[in-house]
Amino acid sequence: MNRVCVSCKKQMDDWNEHCGRCGFHVELVPDDTIKARYLRGPSLGAVLFTQGWAFGARLYLWFLLSLVPVFGIIVLFICLFFGRRLSWKQGGWASWEDFVRRMKMMDILGGFWIVFWMSIYLYARFI
Ligand SMILES: [Zn+2]
Repeated sequence: MNRVCVSCKKQMDDWNEHCGRCGFHVELVPDDTIKARYLRGPSLGAVLFTQGWAFGARLYLWFLLSLVPVFGIIVLFICLFFGRRLSWKQGGWASWEDFVRRMKMMDILGGFWIVFWMSIYLYARFI
């Protein structure tokens, strides 16, 4: 999944279009462009349900950190903005499809999680 710079042979991350060492511009084939865009996107699920998201995204260290009160907020933002990239890099996914399927599932799960707590709140508040 890691690419190598054509110019200086440095390892490059999937989502970078420029080499970090020599600045060489790498042409992304359309498929890669879609992947790069996806990886740079925010993960909504991380905002709604940070612990569950980090766990589902196989970011176990971040999962543990998210349980620490103050760190939890920091982890929330890191997972929101960098979560997909971290997960893709560290998660050991068998394929891109596996990864995307799990990301979708975790976003949906986050939605359910919020609806669940909202209903409990509304129930306790008004009934
Ligand atoms: Zn380079």
